[in-house]
Order: sequence, then structure tokens, then C-alpha cells
Amino acid sequence: MPELPEVETMRRGIAGLCGARIVAARFPQGTCRPLAIAPPPTEIAARLEGHRIVSVARFGKRVAIEVGREESAPHWLVIEPRMTGLLLVAEPPTPNHVRMELEVATGTGSSAGACQKLLFWDQRGLGTIRLLDARGLDRACGAAKLGPDGLVVTGSDLAERLGESRRGVKIALLDQRAVAGIGNIYAAEILHRAAIDPRTPCHAVAAGAWEAVARAAREILASAVAHEGSSIGDELYRTADNRKGGFQKLHRVYGLAGTPCQACGAPIERIVQAQRSTFFCATCQPRFRGRRRRGTSPKPRAERLAKLVRRSLGA
Ligand SMILES: [Zn+2]
Repeated sequence: MPELPEVETMRRGIAGLCGARIVAARFPQGTCRPLAIAPPPTEIAARLEGHRIVSVARFGKRVAIEVGREESAPHWLVIEPRMTGLLLVAEPPTPNHVRMELEVATGTGSSAGACQKLLFWDQRGLGTIRLLDARGLDRACGAAKLGPDGLVVTGSDLAERLGESRRGVKIALLDQRAVAGIGNIYAAEILHRAAIDPRTPCHAVAAGAWEAVARAAREILASAVAHEGSSIGDELYRTADNRKGGFQKLHRVYGLAGTPCQACGAPIERIVQAQRSTFFCATCQPRFRGRRRRGTSPKPRAERLAKLVRRSLGA
């Protein structure tokens, strides 16, 4: 589940460990489903121990911890939380789902020796851990794999990558090669703010409407980062110091089927697209019928409704 805001919150939560030295790396073998780890854990441990954490970056829904020593080329420990993975600098929710434990020493000189733990915890075990060199990082997280980040994506980025696609716009927004970081929750919220029906085929979305989608993506993702992500449903997602996120309180459509739309009062609807739930408001996001000429702006009614929705959201 973790999408861009949750993974960015994890990244920020562990960024304070930059400069710390990795004393030990352990990969506990519990009775749970084993995680995809490459190269093998013993090799990763040998290659991490004694190295420092240089930086902590994010690529889409992955965290990349740069590790290095002066005399050696940098490597990146790339962690993808997938469904239930968490990066923690606090006690884990359960001890038996800890998949990686980095013991790190912070401080130097006289203040050296304060030991801390960085954990990767994953209940379902669908997350991945990889140690990559610069070429491997480019292959896994470079421009061939990931589109522009959702926090900075532009309308022309989206129009260029998706404008010819026959897919429904909501399904297309989940394509990480088109835009990195968006998943099921935020795709629904973005299209509600942009006042676009999630089933609209991409090729029918006008240039001006792609601008509205990109703007909604930037605004909603930034706001969700500021609120430390969304903890919903199973409530497994936690910040690095094991607290719930707060953005679920600001959801307008996701998980709210049957409740009145906060913009117009019509009930929020739930449909299934590509085996996944899509939530939307049929009034704020009017159904597209027939082919809209490319380059033309959305219908005036949709524009009026978009303005109404934006006003109601205080944007
Ligand atoms: Zn509505």
C-alpha cells in the first residue's frame, strides 16, 4: 500500500541516520514468508558492515539508502515496502516480522558509540531489499523504469506519456513509467480534485485537463507528505517512529463509498477497475461520453465543478 507520501515520510523519518556507521546488518530468518533479498543476506551484511550511511533518497515508492566508505564506490540499499513494509527507528509492531536490522553507530570522536537500530519490518513479506551499484540503481530506478516524480510532474509530462493511451485515466496513473509514486489511494483523490471521471480513456483527456491532473497530483501528494501519509483499513502503515499518518482524515473519496461528497453532497461511488477499487463522485467527475477533440478544453460544466471542488478544498 505505501505510496509516495508514505514512502517519503519513511525516508524523512530515517534521514537523521545520515553519517552513521553500520556496525552490523542482520536479516532474521523467521517462520514468515521469506523476503526477496538480493544478493544473499550474508553477502549484503558483509558489504554493509563498516560503511557509513551517506544519504537517503526516494525513487517513486522505493527508498534508496546510499552507503559508502572513502576508498570504495558507493552502493545503494534499495528497499521497496510494497504492501506492508515499514522502515522503522522505533520498536516494531511485532518482533517476528522484522526482516532486516541495521545496527548503526551515530556521532564521531568523543560522542561516538550511541547505537541505534534501523529496521525493515514487513508483515506480508512482499517487500524487496536489493544492494545495487550505480549501474544497478539506474536500471532499477532510472528514467527507463520510473517517470517523473508525482511531486513535480507536469501536465505536458502526462500528456506526452499517456495522451495516446486507450486505458482509463485512473488505471494509467498507476503506471510508474508514466508518473512515479501514485497508487490506488492518491489516484482516486487526484482525479476527484481534477474533476475527471476515472474511466475516461486517456486519449480523450484534453491538454488542459492533463494540467489539472498534474496540479492536483502535486498538491495532494505534497499535502499528504505534510500529514505524514494515510493510515487506513488494516492501519498497518506507520511513520518511522511508529505513529499513524494523518492524511486519511482529508480523503474526499477513497474508502468513502456511500457517504456524501463533501463538495456536492452526492453519494461517493465505488467501482472496480483492473481488479482494484476506484472511488469517485459522479457529479463532480462527470462521465465522458464520446471522443473529445484533443487540444480542446474540458466542458464548461466540468470546469465549473472543478472550481467548486477546489474552492471546497480550500485550494
Ligand atoms: Zn461531488
